[in-house]
Amino acid sequence: MSKDTFKVETKLTRLGRDVHDQYGFVNTPIYRGSTVVFDTVDSLQNNKAKFWYGTLGTPTIKSLEDAWSELSGAEGTVMSPSGLGAVALALMTTLKSGDHLLMPDSVYNPTRNFCKVFLEKFGVEITYYDPLVGENIVELFRTNTSTLFLESPGSQSFEIQDVPLLTRLAKQRGIKTIIDNTWATPIFFKAHEHGCDLSVEAGTKYLSGHSDLLMGLVSANAETWPALRAMYDSMAMLPGAEDCFLALRGLRTMHIRLKEAERRALEVANWLSEQPEVSRILHPAFEGCPGHEIWKRDFKGSSGLFSVVFKPGFSKEALSYMLDNMKIFGMGYSWGGFESLVVPFNCADYRTATKWNPEGLTIRLQIGLENVEDLMTDLRQGLDRLSAFR
Ligand SMILES: *Cc1c(COP(=O)(O)O)cnc(C)c1O
Repeated sequence: MSKDTFKVETKLTRLGRDVHDQYGFVNTPIYRGSTVVFDTVDSLQNNKAKFWYGTLGTPTIKSLEDAWSELSGAEGTVMSPSGLGAVALALMTTLKSGDHLLMPDSVYNPTRNFCKVFLEKFGVEITYYDPLVGENIVELFRTNTSTLFLESPGSQSFEIQDVPLLTRLAKQRGIKTIIDNTWATPIFFKAHEHGCDLSVEAGTKYLSGHSDLLMGLVSANAETWPALRAMYDSMAMLPGAEDCFLALRGLRTMHIRLKEAERRALEVANWLSEQPEVSRILHPAFEGCPGHEIWKRDFKGSSGLFSVVFKPGFSKEALSYMLDNMKIFGMGYSWGGFESLVVPFNCADYRTATKWNPEGLTIRLQIGLENVEDLMTDLRQGLDRLSAFR
């Protein structure tokens, strides 16, 4: 059995470490450092050493880069100190002043803010599009369109995009594609196999798995890798050594945590769909979710984050009464950790290209590793508060 035939779980236990370089210790050590010293002038001037200076990489950083590239089927990977930083790095790689950018209306809202605060200032034109646009995307292509951004499923609303179709149409015009693949991770969706040039992951979520780390990763296909690496090296916005160590540790258990998140989220979502207060579940594995058929075709699984649409008639005050008094579900942003979370949301607050008008109030749930019956009890008591408040 050769290394290449190992299944993903096996790979995740082995990637990015080499015990022979580590005095036999199992894990890659934390290298901290700025200066690298050279034995000879030749080696200093002609780039002959493995490492050159701290901003250009350390063995700890390189271990994580290589592991992520292997997992993602990418030519190369670089990391940023946050997921949003990775989104910014990807966009800076493919865009220049005067270019036109296509952004899905369902994009992670801080990404939209980066477009407004940074890209617009540098003369990039931005058009928001319906994430379910399909082949009509070509009508939005302009002569100066350089980048098509994708996020599948969409943040909070969970539309699944037809990534193979969109990347194929973009490629025909020489337009670069970037996907925010945070929800599925490379374990459930192979972005580069589906045609994406750059793939962004907020490692803050499932790679960390413990809500104690901020990290972003950008992986690139062979064609786009030199541009990504050059942009990254030009700025030297590096992740910290300890953060890379924690990310490598998270990588070892990522598969089992994701599979467990999937199982638990499906159990809770199925149960919720039968509760009288609930109108619909927004979860790509559910038939009513926009793009469900595409999810079935392209994805290997679903993770632990989904949304709920309540039936009409509940007031915002009733929802606050429900959420203010949850016993297990914490109220807060981010997700992918071991603990369950809930946030109320309303996409109508920021959408510009499409109408967001569900029949009732909406919440997003992240399902953690608590006992599922305990979670359902907490939710059922919350739903009782919601309906009692009327
Ligand atoms: C959380 C998130 C990010 C940003 O990650 P941070 O590390 O919090 O900056 C980007 N995209 C998506 C889809 C996310 O959920």
